[in-house]
Amino acid sequence: MKKILGKDDIRRSLMRISHEILERNKGAEDIVLLGIYTRGYYLAKRISENIKMIEGVAVPVGGLDVGPFRDDEKKTKDDKSNINFEVKNKIVILVDDVLFTGRTIRAAMDAVTSRGRPKFIQLAVLVDRGHREFPIRPDYVGKNIPSSKERETIKVRISEVDGEDSVYILDK
Ligand code: 5GP
Ligand code: MG
Repeated sequence: MKKILGKDDIRRSLMRISHEILERNKGAEDIVLLGIYTRGYYLAKRISENIKMIEGVAVPVGGLDVGPFRDDEKKTKDDKSNINFEVKNKIVILVDDVLFTGRTIRAAMDAVTSRGRPKFIQLAVLVDRGHREFPIRPDYVGKNIPSSKERETIKVRISEVDGEDSVYILDK
């Protein structure tokens, strides 16, 4: 098991991503953050706190359950999303911990568009480990971690869930 990111690295990555979001979208207007459960939601909350500090704007954060929209064996029945704002005409920024095949994000785009027609959907991830199966790429990346699809996995620990902030690569 090899440590790739520590607490300070994660903090700086999320701060950079927050600045990049504001730069790309020329401010915080019309931005909403949707974090994919579980860890993506807490990362989205941290990005929102950063934007509040940088820009003085409270960007809404929701939690997205992509389960009902999945195309694989992980498909679930009830939707546990918690989103108390409109996505119509908004700049929706999806936030997740790890991007791998892209199937979760494909499902997330269905989950978003089932609620309304956003102006843009953008994607922020803490880790991109490669091995896409769909034509999906992130707009904002904490760290690219090339990995073996079969032999390796990424362990993401974030304090709200796991009691510490760290990212490891390990053999399965
Ligand atoms: P994908 O749908 O792109 O194949 O996988 C992305 C989703 O599965 C993300 O929500 C992520 O949490 C989880 N995931 C996929 N691979 C990994 C991995 O190596 N480590 C961790 N921690 N999560 C992963
Ligand atoms: Mg996940």
